[in-house]
This record gives sequence, structure tokens and C-alpha cells, in this order.
Amino acid sequence: MTALIAANWKMNASLAGNEALLSALAAGIASKPACDVALCIPAPYLAQFVALVSQLPALAGVALGAQDVSSQPSGAFTGEVSAAMLKDFGCRYAIVGHSERRQYHGETDALVAAKAQQALAQGITPIVCVGETLAERDAGRTTEVVKRQLAAVIQANGHCISEIVVAYEPVWAIGTGKTASPQDAQAVHAVLRAQLAAASANASRVKIIYGGSMNAANAAMLLAQPDIDGGLVGGASLKAIDFLSIVSAACA
Ligand code: PEP
Repeated sequence: MTALIAANWKMNASLAGNEALLSALAAGIASKPACDVALCIPAPYLAQFVALVSQLPALAGVALGAQDVSSQPSGAFTGEVSAAMLKDFGCRYAIVGHSERRQYHGETDALVAAKAQQALAQGITPIVCVGETLAERDAGRTTEVVKRQLAAVIQANGHCISEIVVAYEPVWAIGTGKTASPQDAQAVHAVLRAQLAAASANASRVKIIYGGSMNAANAAMLLAQPDIDGGLVGGASLKAIDFLSIVSAACA
């Protein structure tokens, strides 16, 4: 399966900074990378990305993504950004259910499932994040938690489920410098793979990517696992040199 490396810039961007980062990425990336590469950027900069990519042909193969999407199609939902709006800017991906949104914005499994549904309705691939907290891990509840989170999305999206990407992101590994060992991550990915296979005959094409302090040093070992199909990269995606080396590891 073609690997997917998706950057999650989180709330880190500026007009000048984006220009510098995209120029540096353009200088180091193959115009047709041998794997899928996406940048999930803050919504206010979608138009800037589109304009810059037209001036930086080396980025033509890099897909645009958002970090969230509304669970509603349109209307009186102040501050929300709909899937149709993301589509207008050519977004190919939208992260849904990132642990920071579950934790700081109270997003429930049902809301995350509705967000995935909205993205799919616009032909946008939701990158559905699942993952356990440290307390849940210590209590031996990892499998139960990630299966519950994914089950909600499967239930709401039925036959479209083969169109999603799943990101396993142990919460305790995000932005902490702690990474799940390749073996531990693989074990959870295998659980998720089996859950998807039970839900859809086409589930074998669903990419299951890993996120949580993936960096230039650990990417190759994680990506070598049979059920790890790529990475969702936060901190390391903000430095071109680090992100490019993760892309190289995935495209190898
Ligand atoms: C993320 O935010 O999805 C993430 C994985 O962050 P980091 O790589 O910084 O741990």
C-alpha cells in the first residue's frame, strides 16, 4: 500500500513562516513523490497554500488537508468551517477527532463520526484519530478505547468506511517526545485492521497511520511494521529538513 505522510501543523503558522516552510519543502521534495504527502494546515491559510503551490511546481504532488471540519453542512454555526468550504480550496483530507479536540473541545465519538460523515459527503478523506490516554493504557484499556472510537465512525459511515484513513495516536505520545515502540504500535494497528476488515470487504485499502512524536530518527522503524501505513506528524512537520527525511523514509 502506498504510504501516507500527513503533516499536522496545529496552530502554528503565519504568512511569512508558511512561505519559508513551503519553499524549503519545495526545494527538497520530488515533484511526484513515491508516497502520498499531505499538509494539514490552519484553515485561514488555505488560500495562501493554493497560491504558493501554483508558484512552486515541486509541491504539485502534495495534497492539502484541514485539521478539523464541521459536523454540520452549513448554516448558523458561528466559527465552524464546513466540508464544502474545504472542498472549495481543494482539500483532499481533513483530520477529525484529534485528541486535542477531544480533550480541549469535548468532542465525543458521535461528533467525530458526524464530522467524518460530512467530509466523506464532499469527497474529502477524513483522517480519523483514535488513541488512548496514559491512564487508559496503564489500566490495560488501550484496545477497548481505540475500538470504541473507531466503532462510532464505522457505525455512522457504513459502506463508505473504506474511504477513510485511520490515525492511531496514543495521547501520551503526542508532542511529548515519547513514541510507542514499533511493536506496541503494530499491535494496536493490527487490532484496528481486524476491526475494519470485519466491517467492510474493502477495508484492506484503508491506510492506518501512526502519530505521536514521529521524527526523522524513529520513522523508518515505525514505518517498517506491516500494519503501519504512514504517519501523522506534528512537531517534526514544522521543520522542512525533519519532515523531508520522514517523507524519504516513507517513500523508500
Ligand atoms: C499530532 O499532533 O497529530 C502529533 C502526532 O504530534 P507530534 O508529532 O508532535 O507528537
